[in-house]
Amino acid sequence: MENGKWKIETKKMNRADFEILNQTVYKRPLVYLDNAATTQKPTAVINALTEAYTTWNANIHRGVHHLSQVATQKHEEARQKTADFLHAASAREIVFTKGTTNSLNLLAFSFGEALVHEGDEILVSAVEHHSNIVPWQMLCQRKKARLRVIPMREDCTLDIEAYAALLNERTRLVSVAYVSNVLGIIQPVEDVIRLAHAKEIPVCIDGAQAVPHLPVDVQALDCDFLAFSAHKMYGPTGLGVLYGKEKWLNMLPPAEGGGEMIEHVRWDNTTYNTLPYKFEAGTPDFIGSYAFGVALDYMNSLGREAITRYEAELCRYLESQLAAIQGVRIYAAGHEKAGAVSFNVYREDGQLLHPFDVGTLLDRQGVAVRTGHHCAEPLIDALGVPGTIRASLALYNTCEDIDALIRALETAVAMLS
Ligand code: PLP
Repeated sequence: MENGKWKIETKKMNRADFEILNQTVYKRPLVYLDNAATTQKPTAVINALTEAYTTWNANIHRGVHHLSQVATQKHEEARQKTADFLHAASAREIVFTKGTTNSLNLLAFSFGEALVHEGDEILVSAVEHHSNIVPWQMLCQRKKARLRVIPMREDCTLDIEAYAALLNERTRLVSVAYVSNVLGIIQPVEDVIRLAHAKEIPVCIDGAQAVPHLPVDVQALDCDFLAFSAHKMYGPTGLGVLYGKEKWLNMLPPAEGGGEMIEHVRWDNTTYNTLPYKFEAGTPDFIGSYAFGVALDYMNSLGREAITRYEAELCRYLESQLAAIQGVRIYAAGHEKAGAVSFNVYREDGQLLHPFDVGTLLDRQGVAVRTGHHCAEPLIDALGVPGTIRASLALYNTCEDIDALIRALETAVAMLS
């Protein structure tokens, strides 16, 4: 291992900005490897929340008074920062939501109301998070449409040939994750989009695990929709984004009614607001959006490409160290990953060590990983295991964190064998 190089890169990534990491758990230094679930927040983001509540908190858009105008400006600046971060054509294409789940539900409802009819088909893949399955199942039940599943190959990659064969004149939308939250693999979404567009079918990308790690450019990608969560990319909880191409968002009806989303309310004819407000009923999380903008500034200051490069190297290091342990089985081994590696450990007699037991023993040594089905039960069922152990990375993780995981894993395995 080129340890010197790792250390130089690590220094650049400002681990010291994440105060929470500087603590012990069960008298061991905390090693936080559960970043796919949520990331920690840098001091700048935490300070932004305090600053907002202590200096300019006031409800946005409706006020003529000073604080309301300051708050409105901060919220709209955050929307523009988000648009810039994604290279969206316009801030009108950025709908603030409560998170990826909320974004996908909003889209499934709104798109379904307008454009899905009995006998139509929606395509998702076999490796999706429940958030990118259940809203589409609910839509299909409501509209008597059919949810079809793009299969994965033996090596856990998407079966693109099978996907191409599934696209037909009844397909209304394709929705797939850019990066699998279980396997960490980067899916060939460019191919997914190209093949769908050849048949004029729109594509929604679940970017929950991609936007934190990869420089996602929605115009280059040409996706029609993109959903992600702020809390997985150093921002606050309770905020997410639904990006949608303006032409689609204009076509779709609002999913919720209330304040903000209307132009005029009349007993006989209510008219709706312009984009993106049509989709933002009620008071939005304007403090969260502001803090999210600070998180985006933070990522930009470190350099998107630098983050991607650093995390990719770290991910390769993680996989190589895990692979060296006797009995470890890595899922989608050898495939390019972003931020997460899933594995299980088998005893010499072939018996699986239950991921929950391994995870618990890691925790007792200060190492936080996630075990279980990771909200992707169909994928875990297909893998034929009760769950996996997932170590997931963020920009503040280091080689030393991975070395600590490996040491703790060796101890756990010795205890369980
Ligand atoms: N999609 C993927 C791929 C995820 O990894 C997650 C969360 O882990 C979600 C959707 C749901 O995100 P949230 O719980 O922030 O709505």
